[in-house]
Amino acid sequence: MQGAITRRARALAFTAFSALACAWTGSALAQQGGADRNALVPHQVAEGVFLMQNPTGSGNAGFVITSDGVLVFDADVRNADQTLAFIRKQTDKKVRYVVISHAAGDHATGVWHYREDKPTFIATRRQMRDMYMQEKQQFDERKAQGRPEQNPYARAEFVTPDLGFEGALTLQFGDVTFQLTEEGHGHSTSDVTMFVPQKRVFFMGDLLNTEIHPGQSESAGVIFANVTGWVSSLDRVLARNLAVDTYIPGHGPVHLGRGVADLEEQKRYFLTMRDRVSRRMAQGDDLAKIQKDFQPPEEFARYSRKERMNNFLNLFFHQNIERGF
Ligand SMILES: [Zn+2]
Repeated sequence: MQGAITRRARALAFTAFSALACAWTGSALAQQGGADRNALVPHQVAEGVFLMQNPTGSGNAGFVITSDGVLVFDADVRNADQTLAFIRKQTDKKVRYVVISHAAGDHATGVWHYREDKPTFIATRRQMRDMYMQEKQQFDERKAQGRPEQNPYARAEFVTPDLGFEGALTLQFGDVTFQLTEEGHGHSTSDVTMFVPQKRVFFMGDLLNTEIHPGQSESAGVIFANVTGWVSSLDRVLARNLAVDTYIPGHGPVHLGRGVADLEEQKRYFLTMRDRVSRRMAQGDDLAKIQKDFQPPEEFARYSRKERMNNFLNLFFHQNIERGF
């Protein structure tokens, strides 16, 4: 009985938080005048902590304001100017650091927009390599194409990281601590998360996608996601039992105050989807047949961007085999 009451109280709190988030969404959309694919909608997550959410499902970005400057988490060349404009409305402090969750274009290509503030661009060594090896080439190709949708690339420059780390890095400034952890190979070859203990928030990058079928980490035409590694990364974050109110997703809306329930849902997504593929394999169905008529489990039927499932069905299929199916 007590469990039911607690659950209900939690659900009510979550609804109240969601209503607040929707109010933000409405006003910001009105300001921006409607449906631009690259539009970012600001949501306040905690005191001085903001998520810039892309409602069409492209990459989110975020930032934290401290008394000694701003840290930006993720930057897409197509819309990081919107994040900067919103930062300027909130504070006169400079952007001191840019951190990326991984080296894909929708998270890592927009650092040029912050050039006036001369921030330090921090990445893992592995991300640095992916930036040189894949993303730069794709960026340059788009820059050269001259198509109207490539305008953001045409006017910008590709910026490579200033500082590379391996494993973990603690950054401290303006009385705020940023715990960066290289979680390993899950969504991408080197996923970085960021815990901000004083704010009780945790930036997940693309290790967390909410209300959307997760992406397979395409970087310059190469697909990097590893389902087994992704689940292990989620397990490691869960095992830390951190004092966190909100885990901030790389794609999809933020669920203020929902805590680890978001991570558990993401993990359940992979396990139940993989189980469903495995059952089809046991019936003798090949990949093409599974992809043709696959229905996601009921819990995930409402997720948007169903077209993203096909690459994952491919991954589930082959990673089931790798694991000795
Ligand atoms: Zn992404």
